[in-house]
Amino acid sequence: MQNHYSGLINRYRERLPVSDKTPVISLCEGDTPLIKLANLPAETPNGADISMYVKFEGLNPTASFKDRGMTMAVSKAAEEGAKAIVCASTGNTSAAAAAYAARAGMTAFVLIPEGKIAMGKLAQAMMYGAVVIQIRGNFDDGMELVKRVAKEAPVAIVNSINPFRLQGQKTAAFEITEALGRAPDYHCIPVGNAGNISGYWIGFSEMCGHNTESCTLCNGQCPFLADPKVTTRPRMVGYQAAGAAPFMRNGKVENPETVATAIRIGNPQSFDLAKAAVDESGGWFDELTDEEILAMQKRLANREGIFCEPASAVSVAGALRDIENGKIAPGSVVTCTVTGHGLKDPDVAIAQCQEPVVTIDANLEAVKQAILGNLPG
Ligand SMILES: *Cc1c(COP(=O)(O)O)cnc(C)c1O
Repeated sequence: MQNHYSGLINRYRERLPVSDKTPVISLCEGDTPLIKLANLPAETPNGADISMYVKFEGLNPTASFKDRGMTMAVSKAAEEGAKAIVCASTGNTSAAAAAYAARAGMTAFVLIPEGKIAMGKLAQAMMYGAVVIQIRGNFDDGMELVKRVAKEAPVAIVNSINPFRLQGQKTAAFEITEALGRAPDYHCIPVGNAGNISGYWIGFSEMCGHNTESCTLCNGQCPFLADPKVTTRPRMVGYQAAGAAPFMRNGKVENPETVATAIRIGNPQSFDLAKAAVDESGGWFDELTDEEILAMQKRLANREGIFCEPASAVSVAGALRDIENGKIAPGSVVTCTVTGHGLKDPDVAIAQCQEPVVTIDANLEAVKQAILGNLPG
């Protein structure tokens, strides 16, 4: 089984903080497709000569990018002898924590905001056997409680304040750079707790052997310094939901609200790292309304065949808007992280499909009429 892909720790072992003593807890996460968009750029003003790709992270084992960080966090927790892990979550972190804990023989405690988690994510946490703790509060409340309880109970935190999470998540930037044979000009990404954008910046930076003197990220430990693979880094562009956009308000948002529950976060734990990534790279932050987010979720599905959850559509919606208004230069190579799968949140998806399902008698004539009446003009 020499060529069997066995997950991102084994794939990038020499670039990650693991040793022979680290038990690898993996579900073969990573190695997700980088899909070139076939229709949307050409349908966008100024988009005809843009090469646009989505990194479809919904195709990870628990259907979001959280698996990349979780394989690292749980493997390191196992190495340190942990028996239990804990996280606050808008849903996907709890699904990933629960799955990797199950595999490692650990107990996962997950704190979720009552009534604000997509149905698929709750189903996952329950099936994988996590102890699900609903709190009457939002993600930010859960995060504060997790930080405090970890000081008083024997549980390892696996939220992205755990530095091993970002180390795992940086590998998506390695994969993008390897797939393109170069760095993209712009990398666009949804921002919630702001760990992922920070992880990608570490990854893109390590790929080009950046100058560590000024780098706050790798502290001189960058394994690519001696052997850079490329010479550039992308501009990092972070998009938020308008009702949960602390980077646009320059500080905490007290009662974050958005249909994109995965990024319904008002007090991002990696605020400073993400801000530094965007500033250093010459990128920017921007925001999208729930209407724009849902419209793009649907367009991505029915024009490109890519079904993602609402939070994930934010990167593509923002990128296409910035292509149209010229902020993203003509001729650019643009990559977008599409963070999670659409099947996570079937309720929101069905609610925005207005066309009724056709119901007919089970006979040939009725089926024929249904087809002939709906052929493209
Ligand atoms: C966690 C998550 C995000 C936000 O990532 P951060 O690292 O918290 O900024 C975006 N989309 C989905 C689907 C997520 O699960």
